[in-house]
Amino acid sequence: LTGGPGERSEMGVSPDEVRERVALRFGPRTLTYGRLAGAAGALAARVGTSGRVAVWATPELETAVAVTGALLAGVAAVPLNPKSGEKELAHILSDSAPSLVLAAPGAELPPVVGDLPRVDVDASAAGAVPAERAADGDPALIVYTSGTTGPPKGAVLPRRALATTLDALADAWQWTADDVLVHGLPLFHVHGLVLGVLGPLRRGGSVRHLGRFSPEGVARELNDGATMMFGVPTMYHRIAEALPGDPELAKALAGARLLVSGSAALPVHDHERIAAATGRRVIERYGMTETLMNTSVRADGEARAGTVGVPLPGVELRLVEEDGTEIGAYDGESVGEIQVRGPNLFTEYLNRPDATAAAFTADGFFRTGDMAVREPDGYVRIVGRKATDLIKSGGYKIGAGEIENALLEHPGVREAAVTGEPDADLGERIVAWIVPADPGDPPGAEELADHVARRLAPHKRPRVVRYLEALPRNDMGKIMKRALADA
Ligand code: ATP
Ligand code: MG
Repeated sequence: LTGGPGERSEMGVSPDEVRERVALRFGPRTLTYGRLAGAAGALAARVGTSGRVAVWATPELETAVAVTGALLAGVAAVPLNPKSGEKELAHILSDSAPSLVLAAPGAELPPVVGDLPRVDVDASAAGAVPAERAADGDPALIVYTSGTTGPPKGAVLPRRALATTLDALADAWQWTADDVLVHGLPLFHVHGLVLGVLGPLRRGGSVRHLGRFSPEGVARELNDGATMMFGVPTMYHRIAEALPGDPELAKALAGARLLVSGSAALPVHDHERIAAATGRRVIERYGMTETLMNTSVRADGEARAGTVGVPLPGVELRLVEEDGTEIGAYDGESVGEIQVRGPNLFTEYLNRPDATAAAFTADGFFRTGDMAVREPDGYVRIVGRKATDLIKSGGYKIGAGEIENALLEHPGVREAAVTGEPDADLGERIVAWIVPADPGDPPGAEELADHVARRLAPHKRPRVVRYLEALPRNDMGKIMKRALADA
């Protein structure tokens, strides 16, 4: 965009042509690259060199402009989830201590945010793109983790981590300037913001945001020129449910270049139903706020249900047993904690030297807290989180995920979560939490236990079955296992 006449960009077109291409189409509003650069440049000039800026992450168009502006200014952006409660917002604001908040004109901020000096994000402003000020190791974003397992911690993500993760994905997924992403996620997590907005822009592609996800919206956009969709498993679940009655949706997915799922495990049942109805396999990728993206499958590779592919270029990944020994051979059975190292990693948890130190090994690997096995061909299969998904029962170590997958194959089960509970005989007993497909006629506990035992092994049968109207999930659709008992 800053090139002169006669120059060619990395996209192979002239700066003038780049300026005219669509970068963002969010609902009825469109920003070309030229206008996005103008708006972000103008904002960068107003932000100046203030240390950190909070970004009120709604509506999505202004959020994208605000984060781009902060990146151009070389200051770290702290996205705020507008649905957070006052207490969580107060924690994030006092922890990250931003000097001001960027918000869309007219956006109403809760009192706890309103105390900060405010700069309105003008998406129609036209400023110049400033000269690059920041270094590779400078923080680009401070993203608070989803809080699935405890109070959110601010992961400090350097510019280098964003660049390397996006370049690795651009290569693996073969992004081009002609790619158009259908986007339906909020922009205050890594998935929606880094992958969903900065990802396509990294290669000159464009992003269409649905505002609110719906299978119909996905069908409409994919049938109208969009080439790829990134989503969370709850979205693919809704798609799998809608497919039988919606030939337009089946056609749309069949024609997509890339369907990607992440942020939580995609149930095998949903993966298979989508494959059967569309001929397309959803690619799973595995990442975290702290590490950005760790593994995936190449666009021209083989996506296999229940696996998250192989480490991306530059990512070192190992599995480590409880006693600290690394699992050497890939045997599809030995379970270890995933540890990763590479330029994709965060630098620290803000103001939490204790938590930061505990998160890294002496040789600089990040302890993800996720357990996995590796298939003989190197594919990673995630077993679950060490804290909530690994059940030690009767001398066995059992992953909650495979039992959940088996339960979901029962026609009477709509949603399933599996946990362990203390048990005098077994150490822990397996508990299945079920949302029945028909609340008036739920499948019996005995029947579900037999269903699991037939598919997996007798020792993996749930000992207790509890019925719920809905599973407790966070705003990314992740099951909050610690909240199950209260539900
Ligand atoms: P917190 O760290 O605050 O408890 P969180 O771990 O849910 O919350 P994120 O960083 O958003 O916050 O999520 C990363 C986690 O999501 C991973 O550690 C892993 O447990 C899970 N995850 C991400 N992608 C996948 C996947 N494809 N399959 C299974 N689990 C996944
Ligand atoms: Mg986490």
